[in-house]
Amino acid sequence: MRRLLPFACGLIPALLAAAPAQKIFPYRYDQHDLSNGLRGITIPTDYPNVVSLFIVVQTGSRNEVEPGKSGFAHLFEHMMFRGTKQTPPEKYEAILKEAGAASNAYTSDDLTAYHTTFSKEDLETMVRIEADRFQNLEYAQNTIKTESLAVLGEYNKNSASPTQKLFEVLRDTAFDQHTYKHTTMGYLKDVQDMPQQYEYSKQFFSRYYRPEYTTIIVAGDVKPAEVRKLVAKYWGDWKRGSHKAEIPAEPVQEGPRSERINWPSPTLPWLAIAFKAPAYSDTLKDVAALDLISYLGFSENSDLYQRLVIQDQKVDYFGADFSNRVDPYLFTALARIKKPEDIKAVENDILATFSGFKDTLVSAQRLAEVKRHLRYSFALRLNNSEAIAGAVARFVALKRTPETINRLYELYEQVTPEDIRDAARKYFVEKGRTIVTLTGGKEK
Ligand SMILES: [Zn+2]
Repeated sequence: MRRLLPFACGLIPALLAAAPAQKIFPYRYDQHDLSNGLRGITIPTDYPNVVSLFIVVQTGSRNEVEPGKSGFAHLFEHMMFRGTKQTPPEKYEAILKEAGAASNAYTSDDLTAYHTTFSKEDLETMVRIEADRFQNLEYAQNTIKTESLAVLGEYNKNSASPTQKLFEVLRDTAFDQHTYKHTTMGYLKDVQDMPQQYEYSKQFFSRYYRPEYTTIIVAGDVKPAEVRKLVAKYWGDWKRGSHKAEIPAEPVQEGPRSERINWPSPTLPWLAIAFKAPAYSDTLKDVAALDLISYLGFSENSDLYQRLVIQDQKVDYFGADFSNRVDPYLFTALARIKKPEDIKAVENDILATFSGFKDTLVSAQRLAEVKRHLRYSFALRLNNSEAIAGAVARFVALKRTPETINRLYELYEQVTPEDIRDAARKYFVEKGRTIVTLTGGKEK
């Protein structure tokens, strides 16, 4: 429960085998805004009985702009299960149990999402109790202490993982000003200070848990008119807020950076090579080109993977992350290396792959295959109402409409081998690069 996704998978591409004219997101959906700024998106699907409800708040660790206040978006993911006067936590759990509903939540850089899947008879109940907790959440000072401890426990548990540390250091090294400098977990000292931040926590809630930041996605065995009526009935009186987060822009990086981590216990070495990369866009070809590069150069089907993992067996984990973000983030290649003495060779191999895209045009045929593959694998994942709502939720956090998925996949179709080369030349530059290595201590 209340899982955190520290490293949400980047490429969420999409489908379309043969006919590019066909939209990748195949469902007709109904999108409407209430006068308070809340947006509702209803997606009737062919899957009977089941309904999946995703509530996306466009607030994540990106919004944590004040020094000493990192980790609050994630803390609220926990606080939101603390109930209201009308529906205390035990009652909330009982209602879910009665409905046979599964409920969960996650926090990332740009969003916090709450989701529930249930049968269609329970639609009104679920819309009602979710509206209640978003509008009437109530907690005492000691509750924040309890939840802070849970969050601290989660921090400590994650800290046992070398990759958590690797990403913490990578972000901290690559960013100076933007809040992507810290992970969604936040800085340890801020997490430790949370029990003292009762007043601030209420301020955070009243800034961001507002209709203009929130989108309700309902997918499944539903009728748009019915959903519109229920959303208006239970969410219509929610008051619009006025806060706008001032997220500092990251200055242009002016030189390569690197950092080494000495892990206190034995572990295989990790290597992260990252370049500054553009924000999510459904109109900028560079974004689509970099998505395609992450597959062409760094997936299991890439030459480099075949060489490092399968043939030479120097590496036992290899991949790239170019996640969609509201603001410019990173394109990162990541490897776990079997022997410390191979780190440098693997680093050179990965850097050569990045450079290769600048020098050599990919074949048009290979590019077409990858586009087909991306469309096909996205389409394949939309195989139940929860998966459909979940895929839409990630894009809603970026552009607040499922239409952006169609635009992104249309953009993939337009990318040429020259676009791939130009994007590589623009972003895979030494001055925008950050390399972090992590090596383990000696066996006792
Ligand atoms: Zn958590």
